Amino acid sequence: MADAILVVNAGSSSLKFQVFELEADALTVRFRGLIDGMGTRPNFAVKDAAGASVVDRPLSAAEGGDPASCLAFLGAWLREAVTGSEVVGVGHRVVHGGARYSAPVRVDAQLLAELEKFVPLAPLHQPHNLAPIRALMASRPELPQVACFDTAFHRTQPIEAALFALPRHYYDEGVLRYGFHGLSYEYIAAQLPRVAPEIAAGRVVVAHLGSGVSMCALERGRSVCSTMGFTALDGCPMGTRCGELDPGVVIYLGRERGMSFDAIEALLYKKSGLLGISGVSNDMRDLLASDAPGARLAVDFFVYRIACELGSLAAALGGIDGIVFTAGVGENSALIRARICERSAWLGLALDTDANTSGGPRISRAGSRVSAWVIPTNEELMIARHTRELLAQAAAGKPQRESARAAPVQDASIRHGYGL
Ligand code: ADP
Repeated sequence: MADAILVVNAGSSSLKFQVFELEADALTVRFRGLIDGMGTRPNFAVKDAAGASVVDRPLSAAEGGDPASCLAFLGAWLREAVTGSEVVGVGHRVVHGGARYSAPVRVDAQLLAELEKFVPLAPLHQPHNLAPIRALMASRPELPQVACFDTAFHRTQPIEAALFALPRHYYDEGVLRYGFHGLSYEYIAAQLPRVAPEIAAGRVVVAHLGSGVSMCALERGRSVCSTMGFTALDGCPMGTRCGELDPGVVIYLGRERGMSFDAIEALLYKKSGLLGISGVSNDMRDLLASDAPGARLAVDFFVYRIACELGSLAAALGGIDGIVFTAGVGENSALIRARICERSAWLGLALDTDANTSGGPRISRAGSRVSAWVIPTNEELMIARHTRELLAQAAAGKPQRESARAAPVQDASIRHGYGL
């Protein structure tokens, strides 16, 4: 019987999953699925590797009421559906690994308790990432689980990229720029030698333009700077998140407008970004199809801010050899790519319009000093690879490579116990 790895990416009301089969050294996706409407109107939809629907049906409250019932249902379905293979490990996307974790780790009760401390840093993601881990630990304690962090890839950044200009002790206590979307950047960095070998060892900015948006400066495939900071709010405008904001605005909203922290959090995470500016939608497709002035302004602002961040990251790198577009908008919208590239012509970037329209992978002209690329991301495959690696290490009796890369600070947040 072949081994399979289940990859779980859990949100507040949804649980995305993929099943990978492990044959020799190859990981082959077998199913991609989504349980959404968890707790309200749960629905279970699965497609096979070719994208054909395998199942699409509502779940009962007992089947899809919470993460524990969803996982019990999913486990039973997998045992029936995935004939010829057995799930031997589960890899989870976990948004926050703090300053300590620069690589994925096997989950145990102590780790779970540590990861709980990062809930205040990613309140809309971390609790939902941890819920299925906890549920599986209770129901299947023997099943190995691996936590793969969105922050881990950025632990190679130099201190000046991670620092805020606050009194230094805050940095030592864990108030620093962590960076996110690290699994996406790690996957792109791993793809570069194959897809874009001429820039793989150079200075590259990756633009992850999805419903969450961030950008990362890579030097020889390692993160040296990124636009997201202490939380996943900073940097570029997103579907519903504000991106860069003068912290004085937060003080003003609280003091002068009498808004509570909860209300400000909801404003900055859920009502801002493309949705807030446009008043139309958080979805770039809707905005591009709309004639409303607010929709046009939101798109203009999106392009402007990303071009500005590109310039800033190029400065952090001391020059730039290439830019990579990825995630929903970056992979699918030739128009947004073109507009960002046009604004960035001053960097020496000349777009190949035809290549851009047909989706690349190379979308810059042959003589362009800075090359531009479209590379689809695959965070789930990255998680499956990490899970396979940790399972193999455990089978070989090797200790975990917990902090393979040097972290900029030790886990001061935990040492000082200040309640992160
Ligand atoms: P998530 O962060 O949820 O994984 P994705 O990377 O899937 O997000 O990106 C989702 C976003 O991609 C959608 O909100 C939508 O705005 C955008 N998108 C997808 N396809 C297109 C397209 N053809 N043109 C413009 N935007 C698109």
